[in-house]
Amino acid sequence: MSSTPIPIITARGTAYEVGYQIGVAAREPLRAMQFETRHEYGAKWQTLLAQAIPFQNATRQHLPRVMQEMRGVADGADISFDDFFLLSVEELLYEELQGQVAPSKNKGCSDLAAAPPATRDGHVWLAHNNDLGASARDQLVVAKLRVADEPEILAVTVGGWFISIGMNDAGLALTGNQLNANDSRVGVPRLLLVRDMLAQTTLDAALQTALHPERASSYNNILSARSGKIVNVEGSATAAALTWSDASGGAVAHTNHYLDETMWRFEADLAYLAMSETRCTRAFDYARVYRGEIDFDICARFVRDHVFAPWSVCKHAGQSVTVFSAILDLTDAKMWLAGGNPCQNDFTVLDL
Ligand SMILES: [Zn+2]
Repeated sequence: MSSTPIPIITARGTAYEVGYQIGVAAREPLRAMQFETRHEYGAKWQTLLAQAIPFQNATRQHLPRVMQEMRGVADGADISFDDFFLLSVEELLYEELQGQVAPSKNKGCSDLAAAPPATRDGHVWLAHNNDLGASARDQLVVAKLRVADEPEILAVTVGGWFISIGMNDAGLALTGNQLNANDSRVGVPRLLLVRDMLAQTTLDAALQTALHPERASSYNNILSARSGKIVNVEGSATAAALTWSDASGGAVAHTNHYLDETMWRFEADLAYLAMSETRCTRAFDYARVYRGEIDFDICARFVRDHVFAPWSVCKHAGQSVTVFSAILDLTDAKMWLAGGNPCQNDFTVLDL
């Protein structure tokens, strides 16, 4: 069975021009996101807009090119810049719900990332299932973009611009998982740091961006380099724990809770822990059982894994379901992408 393919948009030029082209091409999903999110927050939206101003100031200061690109997106989609910016401030949109993650915001993701000696062919293989509210499936867009003087990026986005995962032609990839931490603060939104990580040309530079001292919070960012190095950056606003693939047999795995002992004190969503642990257990099972054998087939088996259902890697039930699945061969710069659950939908290959 094959579902409607995820649309692809391309953009190139200055940061503003790239943003504008994306805004025009993804006007429909962007306006739908704006409408739905404003509706969800109702009268609180105006308060949130005011609270987002210091986040805007931090972003303008530290990521001016990202800010220009966002101006372009808002203009191209013909939506208010302040609304568009607020859509990127998960730190505010989540906190407003006082520790209760809203159903539509309940994200999960499962990741297995492998480099030599964990892979069969010496390539760098990344497998990622992205779990969101089912309605997000209709807002997925693949973006191929190049801002002048930056690497070309192939990314899977929600609404054309909010990047979930991606890779660039400097040989870097970014995958990872949502975390819920209790030390979020005013700063550069984590979602915007993701955009900047993919603008980098070295693993060290991407790592520095992930660890930006002015970050408002952090995802678990898995940064991979074609050269064969992977680093798992399990971060919060004020701390981070790094796991390098060469110190863990070549493979790293992660889902949606803090694993490193030094990070446990930042965990803000204990209720969700069990649903993340089942998927994490399977990711580590694959890393261990298939060490030295990981390739496309093992990755495809992992993303279709139903052990521990309904809290399985391929997730069909609950507030978040698998809305897309991606397998990346970073060595050959290829991405296989399936919209919806990968057990029911075919993978299509995309070249960077
Ligand atoms: Zn399935």
